[in-house]
Amino acid sequence: MKRTDLRNIAIIAHVDHGKTTLVDGLLKQSGIFRENEEVQDCVMDSNDLERERGITILAKNTAVSYNGIKINIVDTPGHADFSGEVERILSMVDGAILLVDSAEGVMAQTKYVLRKALEKGLRPIVIINKMDRQDARPAEVLDEILELFIDLGADDDQLDFPVLYAVGRDGWSSLEPHEKGEDLQPLFQKIVEHVPVPEGDNEGPLQFMITTLDYDNYVGRIAVGRIHQGKVRTGQQVSVCKIDGTVAKGKAQQIFTYQGLSRIATEEATVGDIIAITGLSDINIGETISDPENPAPLPVMKIDEPTLQMT
Ligand code: GDP
Repeated sequence: MKRTDLRNIAIIAHVDHGKTTLVDGLLKQSGIFRENEEVQDCVMDSNDLERERGITILAKNTAVSYNGIKINIVDTPGHADFSGEVERILSMVDGAILLVDSAEGVMAQTKYVLRKALEKGLRPIVIINKMDRQDARPAEVLDEILELFIDLGADDDQLDFPVLYAVGRDGWSSLEPHEKGEDLQPLFQKIVEHVPVPEGDNEGPLQFMITTLDYDNYVGRIAVGRIHQGKVRTGQQVSVCKIDGTVAKGKAQQIFTYQGLSRIATEEATVGDIIAITGLSDINIGETISDPENPAPLPVMKIDEPTLQMT
């Protein structure tokens, strides 16, 4: 099944190149769009609201909407870590935005995260950001980026990356380096066009990789990840495939999707959705939440070698 109404992306960047500010801009503009269109129903009644009160932690992931299409934006660590977290997070998405400061250009973390994204087979969209800087040098920076793609062994599809120019702080993007944009519409449009829609078998047995964990005093551990296959319903029995090969039983107490900066309780989530599941206490990163009758673990991401450190 193809989810044409959904895109899952990560924004990857060197620290301070403007990731947070850009996400704020996307949220802001998405809020404006939201008033003018029908947003896909999020099942939410008073019961759900009450249940949701158990959740106090701010979601790390955000979701924006554009022309009725939901865009999940997952957070990537702002530093190189060796736990494999970047890789796991990139396994949740079908596309990436590589954000580069128009003056600073390619930096250590740009290389590190781009390498991971290319290894995952993602085809990044490039944004040269902070075009308002006096010392902006977009043409040179674009050359540096192209060189980096080549150095990292990008394939032809990946090398054919779209480029946008932006001032995230002022909430605009443009397809031309010498043209000030109106808003972030060109970026939204490019995301929708360029990032593949999530695919997977909606009818097959559930497979959900626990990518990150949140914790809440009231509900305990919260599993965050993407549904790679099948669907999950609130209250459903599930099995948890442990790293050591054993299988535990449990119940998906609540299911949350993302909207804006919040988590919204939902009755059912399907293949491609990035969700949070509560009610499973003894869970860990890398485990697969799966069908009670057909427990089938997803391959566990390898752990980073320190030798793969930034070059
Ligand atoms: P992050 O570390 O990538 O999340 O970067 P932030 O979004 O926190 O931004 C880092 C710094 O760059 C902050 O001081 C922002 O105000 C600034 N900044 C973000 N976007 C722009 C921009 O478009 N132009 C300029 N000149 N500064 C920006």
